[in-house]
Amino acid sequence: MKVYMGTDVEGCAGIVGFETQSYGEAKYYEQTKRIATLEVNAAVEGLVSEGVDDVLVSDGHGPGGLSWEDLHPAAKLLHGRPVAPRSVRDAVARAYDVCMIIGQHALAGTADGTLNHTQSSRAVDYYRLNGKPIGEIAQFALYQGALGLPFIFLSGDEAACREVEELIPGVTTAAVKKGLSRQSAISLSQAEAHRRIREGAAEAVRKQRENPLPPFTLPGPYELEIRFFHTESVDALVRRPDVERLDSQTIRLRSDNIMDVIYL
Ligand SMILES: [Zn+2]
Repeated sequence: MKVYMGTDVEGCAGIVGFETQSYGEAKYYEQTKRIATLEVNAAVEGLVSEGVDDVLVSDGHGPGGLSWEDLHPAAKLLHGRPVAPRSVRDAVARAYDVCMIIGQHALAGTADGTLNHTQSSRAVDYYRLNGKPIGEIAQFALYQGALGLPFIFLSGDEAACREVEELIPGVTTAAVKKGLSRQSAISLSQAEAHRRIREGAAEAVRKQRENPLPPFTLPGPYELEIRFFHTESVDALVRRPDVERLDSQTIRLRSDNIMDVIYL
């Protein structure tokens, strides 16, 4: 089995602050990258223990949120900003069998979701797909699903685990943090977080071999509504032919193909 592993940082144990930890200019950003990479490594260990021989780690956090020098020897890292064109990245991802996310947070507006946000914590109020609020988990699972990769495992805070379990029944999760509010939480120790991630990733592979989940999809056609906090975000998008302005702060994208609408 070949595994494509997305990453984020706000769902990692030990990460609770935007300004101090997860923004690129944060004082403790280098530590954040190391914390996220060690959680990734715990997942890679679990995968390797089940015989997985190809793990591509795709750095998904805005400014880049992993430290290459700490990466598990069995993994490879897809990284760099700005990201490569979709046509290039899609061809790479399609060669993998399943996908997962490490360090994920819940969608914007989840009261007990630590560092909850959708894409930009500074700019986006919400994303709604066909009327239903969605976040980065659904975006990732739908996009990779369209490429043919089932979503089998997530680690993150409890709210992110709940979110993916509602979306994809049968998915495996590992919760490493319990959100009390947007910027406070109860984190497990690093050792316990790593143990849960390692065992969860291994379990997800075993489950996928015995009783495989299909690639995740939702029925189309698709209408994605995005509301921003500020009008300037919409001003910057209105020239795109696929973007319809609904009001000063809200846009809509429509397509029969989920890949056209799910990422801006
Ligand atoms: Zn994120």
